[in-house]
Order: sequence, then structure tokens, then C-alpha cells
Amino acid sequence: MHRIYEDTYKHKGLRNGLVEKLRLKGIHSDIVLGAINSIPRHYFIPAEFEIHAYEDKAFPIGEGQTISQPYTVAFQTQLLDIKAGDRVLEIGTGSGYQASVLLSCGAIVYSIERHEPLSVKAGKLLHKLNTKHLHLKVGDGTKGWLEHSPYQKIIVTAGAPSVPKVLFNQLAEGGYLVIPVGNDSKQKMVRITRLEGNELKTEIFEDFSFVPLIGENGWK
Ligand code: SAM
Repeated sequence: MHRIYEDTYKHKGLRNGLVEKLRLKGIHSDIVLGAINSIPRHYFIPAEFEIHAYEDKAFPIGEGQTISQPYTVAFQTQLLDIKAGDRVLEIGTGSGYQASVLLSCGAIVYSIERHEPLSVKAGKLLHKLNTKHLHLKVGDGTKGWLEHSPYQKIIVTAGAPSVPKVLFNQLAEGGYLVIPVGNDSKQKMVRITRLEGNELKTEIFEDFSFVPLIGENGWK
């Protein structure tokens, strides 16, 4: 873990290659691509997968969970359209890689994970990157994190059966909630915008496959 700033240049060529692949797949946000190009993803996955870290693949991270595929991370982050200083709630800290991308885009991140060992591990790693703008919590993210609401952006990184209303309620006016919604094998990426007067706009994007969002307002 102490390696964090020591060999940031390691695998730089592989990271450049990944960024080019993501660009070809339709990721056009320079902020998102810049974040992916600067973050050593190999720190966030088990050492035995290090040489595969810059392939566009998900990997196991323990507790039956996965670090999302880089394309998925890039797609969700691009939909969030992060502006510097945005307060972002993330449900599903997992490895901490998505949180790191959000921090690198200039967000103030509040991230919740239900598996304590994953949260502790991600915290140790992420605190080497940026402590000031990172807040972690262990618990059921389907209930949101009321005391820091409203958030300009909310991202859910696990597959939900439906959109938890409580998350919409914690979104600032004009804010985005990006959440995969579907069954246990396939979900559509959905972006909800909170409009004036509690109105909402729903946009539906392509299919993804996430681990389940488990909790009071998710899968039981
Ligand atoms: N953002 C993560 C990353 O960058 O590695 C992706 C993690 S994985 C695809 C989804 C995570 O959501 C898992 O770590 C899982 O434990 C977590 N999760 C599922 N249901 C949750 C809930 N109700 N509250 C918080 N975390 C939850």
C-alpha cells in the first residue's frame, strides 16, 4: 500500500492502451479518461491479477464482490458529468477504484460499503490519495447517507431491482442519480435527473451486469 506514489509510472503504457480502448468504445470525456490514465488500477486488485489490471475486465476483490470493468466505471462516471466540488454519494465502495476516479475528477466523495473488510482495505489505499475529500462508511447504502445530503450526484455500483426513492430524495435539484436497474443477471444503466418541484427525468442506456445491490431498498 505504501507504493501509491512510488511507481505511478509503472504500467503507464498499458494504461494509455486502456484509455485508447475506452475512447474507441465511446468514452469521450477527457476528465474521465484523464482520471483513468492517472490511477494505478493495479493497486486496487489482488496482486495475482496485476498483469491483467489494464484489460477491460472485472476481477474478484474478496467477499464475493468484484472491481467493475474499466468501461463500466468510465461509462457511469461520464454520465455523472462531475464538476469540481460536486458532492457525490457512491453506493458500493468495493475496491475503492471508482471512488478514486471520482476524486480525481474533483468530487467530494461519500462512499458506503456493506462489507466492512472491503471498506477498511479501500480506505487504507484511498487515504494515501486524498483524505480531505473522502468519507467512507460501512452500512446499507440503499438507505443513502442522510446527514450529508443533498448530493449533486449519486452513483450506485451494484445492480438494483428498482430505483430506491430514498436516494432520489437525497439528490440535489438538478442532480443526477446513475444506477443499474434490472434482474440478477442483466441491468440497464439508468440516469435520473432531479428537476424542479420533485419532478424527474429518466434516461435509459445500455445493458451491464453487476453484482446485486443487497439491502432494505434493494435485493433482500
Ligand atoms: N465501486 C466498486 C469498485 O470500484 O470496486 C465496485 C464494487 S462492486 C461492483 C459493488 C459493491 O457494492 C460490492 O462491494 C458490494 O458489497 C456493494 N454493495 C452491495 N449492496 C450494497 C449496499 N446495500 N450498500 C453498500 N454497498 C453495497
